[in-house]
Amino acid sequence: MAIRFRVLGGAGRDNALHVEVDSGHAIRRLLFDCGDGCLSGLAQAEVQAIDHLFFSHFHMDHVSGFDGYFRTNFDREARPNRIWGPPGSGRILQHRFQSYLWNLHEDLSATWKVSDIDVQEVRTWRYELREAFERAHEEAAVMREGALVLDEDEFTVEALTMDHRTPCLAYRVTEKTRWNIDPAGLAALGLRPGAWLKALKDPAETPDEAWVEGWRAGELRERLLVPTPGDSVAYLTDFLMNEEAMERLADWLAGCGTLICESQYRAADLELAQRNYHMTSLQGAALAERVRANELVLIHVSARYTREEWAGLLDEARGVFPAARFPETWG
Ligand SMILES: [Zn+2]
Ligand SMILES: [Zn+2]
Repeated sequence: MAIRFRVLGGAGRDNALHVEVDSGHAIRRLLFDCGDGCLSGLAQAEVQAIDHLFFSHFHMDHVSGFDGYFRTNFDREARPNRIWGPPGSGRILQHRFQSYLWNLHEDLSATWKVSDIDVQEVRTWRYELREAFERAHEEAAVMREGALVLDEDEFTVEALTMDHRTPCLAYRVTEKTRWNIDPAGLAALGLRPGAWLKALKDPAETPDEAWVEGWRAGELRERLLVPTPGDSVAYLTDFLMNEEAMERLADWLAGCGTLICESQYRAADLELAQRNYHMTSLQGAALAERVRANELVLIHVSARYTREEWAGLLDEARGVFPAARFPETWG
């Protein structure tokens, strides 16, 4: 059980984030944004294996690499083609699907689903390769509960709408808490392990008041189950950081282990950062410190700076949050 991640794209170039959620018996692969050149950091088989593609927003530097993703997966039937993004995602991506000549598509049956994540609801459209993506089949909208957008067996993906002078989504991937049996507790009660332990871990299957091995399930759970919190990683890029944003993010990111955060500007260029609805590395560091993250990985640094200035930008962040770093691949 672990979350592994890789930042794609170099310093001063487009960046994206590849996340693997490894439950021990299956790996789910998530991609956050798809800027120019980002996919070259992945093997072809890894691109084919991505389960979900999440866009923060559709500025060019976050979507320019989508042609490569689509070319690899356009006729993929082995797994669902699933894309998420801010309002307008369905419309924008349908244009991209249709921006090719399709004349050999009738016998192909790949389906693409795109969801617009709005503050209150998620709206989803289905597009069919067999129809040359001409029709947008609207599915039933889903009202949102808090920040949640995707709830899988092993993990969740949440999204928070931020202000980039256009809605821009910040994402958080969180592994679910795993409940392990305390062997000493089991021995102390004189109980023998068995299939009942698996049922005990699931309150939906075994309600608190159910009898299990001569005990109420609720009490047994309290005595025997030890929680192991899952890993978590947040992808935070392209938005204005002000006091209001800081408060919302600090609440939402409580307990998040790793922050992957844009650091477009140096602290001295704060005014420019605010005018362009971006962040300084110092602001990302302040957020990491506030939520007591384990590490902060700075991405999306401006090409306006020299290598020395990038080093300075990192030093500024480390002054506030020592566990700040650039992605390993940046050298
Ligand atoms: Zn942007
Ligand atoms: Zn950007």
